[in-house]
Amino acid sequence: MKIDILTLFPDMFAPLHQSITGRAEAAGIVTICATNIRAFTKDKHGKCDDLPYGGGAGMVMTPQPIVDCVRAVDPEHSARRIYMSPRGRTLTADIARELAKENHILFLCGHYEGIDQRAIDICGFEELSIGDYVLTGGELAAMVTADALLRFVPGVLGSEDSAMEESFSEGLLEYPQYTRPAVFEGQEVPEVLLSGHHENINKWRRRMSEEITRSRRPDLKNDD
Ligand code: SAM
Repeated sequence: MKIDILTLFPDMFAPLHQSITGRAEAAGIVTICATNIRAFTKDKHGKCDDLPYGGGAGMVMTPQPIVDCVRAVDPEHSARRIYMSPRGRTLTADIARELAKENHILFLCGHYEGIDQRAIDICGFEELSIGDYVLTGGELAAMVTADALLRFVPGVLGSEDSAMEESFSEGLLEYPQYTRPAVFEGQEVPEVLLSGHHENINKWRRRMSEEITRSRRPDLKNDD
């Protein structure tokens, strides 16, 4: 998989090159490339933003550097083009799983008051939000989305089952997890987890998942 990120702040993407996503990159499962939109501006002062037509606060990113940057990075329009935006549909585990099937994703990160609508329309961007709040830029939103979708790409997690057993799979939140020691500050690990009886362990985990989901997120849909 290839993930291209178009941004005015390419240095912000260092975290994606670390830990699990960094290892996936080193293993050749994914290539993550942040491109500086400013390198494409034709403005002699290097400007990539301007005042909004119609007035209002802040600056708007101009369309020319964005459109030229998109055309340079994805000349055949082979990528799924996603503009990170509070107006978009909200990222969920299902959307992350769906995006994980793509070969090439291009994230566009806005800044300031956002992006000239013509750049979004001309390049055919869909819009994706990470929640009902406003960030200063799309960079963190693109990183959150890339991280969430990469967990569903085969080979990225140590165990193929890991992403399938986590919160939101089957509309359930995860059961409590424990590791060593068996007793910590007087608190014991539930006995069933020490029993080695896999059927009972699975039943206990399922019951805990259902209870936690019911009490914390009754809005989540699950079939039971
Ligand atoms: N004026 C815009 C509005 O009211 O919708 C907000 C612009 S925001 C300050 C700057 C950039 O941050 C946006 O262009 C977008 O790329 C990104 N951004 C902000 N909040 C986001 C969110 N919840 N999800 C995804 N991207 C977001």
